[in-house]
Amino acid sequence: MSTFTFKASTLDPARAKLDQVVPAGEAWLGTITAGQFFRIVDLEGNQAVDTLFFSAADPRERYSAVDTIRAQGGLYLTTGTALKSTDDNTLLTIVADTCGRHDTIGGACSAESNTVRYGHQTKNMHNCRDSFLAAVQNADVNLTKRDLTANINFFMNVPVTPEGKLTFEDGVSAGGKYVEMRAEMDVLCLISNCPQLNNPCNAYNPTPIRLLVWDTAR
Ligand SMILES: [Zn+2]
Repeated sequence: MSTFTFKASTLDPARAKLDQVVPAGEAWLGTITAGQFFRIVDLEGNQAVDTLFFSAADPRERYSAVDTIRAQGGLYLTTGTALKSTDDNTLLTIVADTCGRHDTIGGACSAESNTVRYGHQTKNMHNCRDSFLAAVQNADVNLTKRDLTANINFFMNVPVTPEGKLTFEDGVSAGGKYVEMRAEMDVLCLISNCPQLNNPCNAYNPTPIRLLVWDTAR
């Protein structure tokens, strides 16, 4: 059974109003306004892009993995997925996807999870939770540690077996693959471009991503 769906976008990067490369291991915090299109490009392939969305008007309303899974009746994010909020509004809709599958149950890596999964020697390694924390502490946004909840891992492959087991597999993405969303409300986007060196999801090799924002679909 294949759950992969692919849809390309017609938007031209030359006409984007924002075009920015985020190196591996760095965070990005930005606002995407209602009606804008937001694309994340996996430049070199098999990167994990840990992402949280919040309502820009009230960050207490935030991305809800549970409500997103329930609303679409499926575990994987792809074209057509409405990214739901904790108030059951749609934050963004995925409108194009050339990767075909994105995870929202694997969570973000942290010093604690690294220690449990890969051994105590990984405790001091750079991780997504630290990147998230540093980004919100260094920005003028009303977000704290408590706001770092279940996230999206764009381009990450975490298939669930028929027995219900969660498995971290080799990435299904490749250089140049992208996911594109339309903002349905003004949203704050917090990204940790994962620095993980212990997980096959990114082939043990964190790489840069490219972010693009367009004002309209034309
Ligand atoms: Zn990570």
